[in-house]
Amino acid sequence: MKSTELMEAYKKYLMPTYSPSVVIAKAKGSRVYTPENTQYYDLTSGIGVHNVGHCTEGVVKAVQEQIAKLGHCSNLFANEPQVKLAKKLVEISGLGGKVFFCNSGAESNEAAIKLARKWGAQNGGRYEIVTMRNSFHGRTLATVTATGQSWCQKDYDPLMPGFAYADFNDLESVKAAITEKTVAIMLEAVQGEGGVTPATEEFMAGVRALCDEKNLLMICDEVQCGMGRTGKWWGWQNYSVKPDLFTAAKSLADGIPMGALISNAKCADVFGPSDHASTFGGNPLACAAALAVIKIIEEENLLDAADKKGKLLIAALKAFADKYDQILEVRGMGLMLGMVIDGDPKPVVEKFRDFNVLALTAGGNVVRFLPTLSMKESNLEQAVEMMAEALEELYDTAEA
Ligand SMILES: *Cc1c(COP(=O)(O)O)cnc(C)c1O
Repeated sequence: MKSTELMEAYKKYLMPTYSPSVVIAKAKGSRVYTPENTQYYDLTSGIGVHNVGHCTEGVVKAVQEQIAKLGHCSNLFANEPQVKLAKKLVEISGLGGKVFFCNSGAESNEAAIKLARKWGAQNGGRYEIVTMRNSFHGRTLATVTATGQSWCQKDYDPLMPGFAYADFNDLESVKAAITEKTVAIMLEAVQGEGGVTPATEEFMAGVRALCDEKNLLMICDEVQCGMGRTGKWWGWQNYSVKPDLFTAAKSLADGIPMGALISNAKCADVFGPSDHASTFGGNPLACAAALAVIKIIEEENLLDAADKKGKLLIAALKAFADKYDQILEVRGMGLMLGMVIDGDPKPVVEKFRDFNVLALTAGGNVVRFLPTLSMKESNLEQAVEMMAEALEELYDTAEA
């Protein structure tokens, strides 16, 4: 189907929760293509999903082999890829706990919330979770309540009881939100949707100290900043402290829907038999894909690559900020970077698209970049050149 024809059918048959701008028919590495074969550099990675690249050989092969052998068997029966993946996730977390598998970021956070409530029920009848303003934790009723942004909560009253909000990077605000009912503090090491804002070391260490002092669980949402995105396996590993629980999804299985909740030893056996469940969670197909993703990150040294290419991209973005007054600030970590715009970031993203580069918005005034960690340096440099031309057209003509 041609793009125009497809878009017409899209509008007719899909609920209008999204308004896609481009039809993508195929992809390879860091590039995606329309049905008409127009090529774009994808600096979105399907919103932080393809950390190892689109249609990467190792993942394609693992998925093809696994689906032909055993695609699903339910959690009433055990399967090898699931056990291998859980072991690997426990190893690369260094938390010494256990894993619960599900199918998305929202579900992984939902699992964290339920685990915290169960633990709280056994530890003083506590249930309230403090989350951060400008956070993003998903779109189920519980996780949209956890999300500290009113635009995605509007019209869904009554929201889930048991959440309180604090300001990110403001320890006093977190202290003020804690009551005798508080059981956990939940945060992203680097806020993604909220505007690509890294936590400060002082804040992360302060939250950990508060959790220790008041017997609370520290929960990190690693759905966007995990799986090597920041140059470490997990965003929180850029700080001096460890959470009790953290969640992963987006890039975990390179596009096969998957989520996971990973615990330390203390929280490893809070969920007992039939306390929580998922039909698809941790099925052999998703687990085989995730094992392939982790292998590629290790073999191709993509943690260092994220760090190195992040430095390259941040330098380029800073040069844009130096050149144009409309670009206020550049921030982020590894290959999770944001360019703060004086105003609406959409025209910038649209202009980049006109020049065949795909980027994202975040937080109302940020252009967000989540390139594949495997993107060739020469391709990244070419994408930067294309963005430079786009900005020249957008800002120079606007000023003339
Ligand atoms: C995307 C995202 C989620 C939600 O994940 P879904 O798979 O869309 O449910 C949760 N937390 C963070 C930090 C995210 O970026």
